[in-house]
Amino acid sequence: LVSRKKKPEDTVITLKGHQVGSGEPSFVFGPCAVESYEQVATVAKAIKDKGFKLMRGGAYKPRTSPYDFQGLGEEGLKILKQVADEYDLAVISEIVNPADVEMAAKYIDVIQIGARNMQNFELLKAAGAIDKPVLLKRGLAATIEEFINAAEYIMSQGNGNIILCERGIRTYEKATRNTLDISAVPILKKETHLPVMVDVTHSTGRRDLLIPTAKAALAIGADGVMAEVHPDPAVALSDSAQQMDLKQFDEFVKEVQPFSQQS
Ligand code: PEP
Ligand code: MN
Repeated sequence: LVSRKKKPEDTVITLKGHQVGSGEPSFVFGPCAVESYEQVATVAKAIKDKGFKLMRGGAYKPRTSPYDFQGLGEEGLKILKQVADEYDLAVISEIVNPADVEMAAKYIDVIQIGARNMQNFELLKAAGAIDKPVLLKRGLAATIEEFINAAEYIMSQGNGNIILCERGIRTYEKATRNTLDISAVPILKKETHLPVMVDVTHSTGRRDLLIPTAKAALAIGADGVMAEVHPDPAVALSDSAQQMDLKQFDEFVKEVQPFSQQS
């Protein structure tokens, strides 16, 4: 069902009036994790001021260590909804438990399925059974074929509004947190009719690589870019090393946005 052979036209997903996959690049900004109303609202204001429409923020954080901050849960989703309503933004947040999918759909505009859950088939089926767009991230060690099959799981349940997100894969290279598989973008665009985004934050794990990788993503044909922004990354409860502060966010937009209009 996700195959380009089955449906030659691009799938376009409309979120609060903003189209993802229509040819104009989309940008998703926001903190790694929802920490407080003030934190999310500060970033939301910056997003809105720059004319963007899509915000991210994790309420359920699948952390490598059980002792790290796990997210605010439903409370975090409520904060996201309140801020999204106030700033007229569409909001994307990761859900990790199939039983939470319906509850989460009341608060958020896009259900994110994270890299660690790309082959959580019960979660994929639960997301496929609701009428809410899904952003599906590539698994840490998933092949492109496995990634496409995960999207097929969602669509097989009736939900065709899926955004694919390349977020880097695990290789032997240690200079970056993951290795951004940039060629996955044109392959996914060729093989499927779904919009394809690139998460430059988690693929690199390095703030100094966000601008060049975002440019590369747009140059190679990605429909959008995701990057993390936090009012004060030094005190962030997760991903403190790679989130942008508001000044870096300004710079990122100044550098990347004109580039996207040229390409
Ligand atoms: C995230 O986007 O918050 C996240 C945890 O990303 P990933 O699943 O790609 O690691
Ligand atoms: Mn993060």
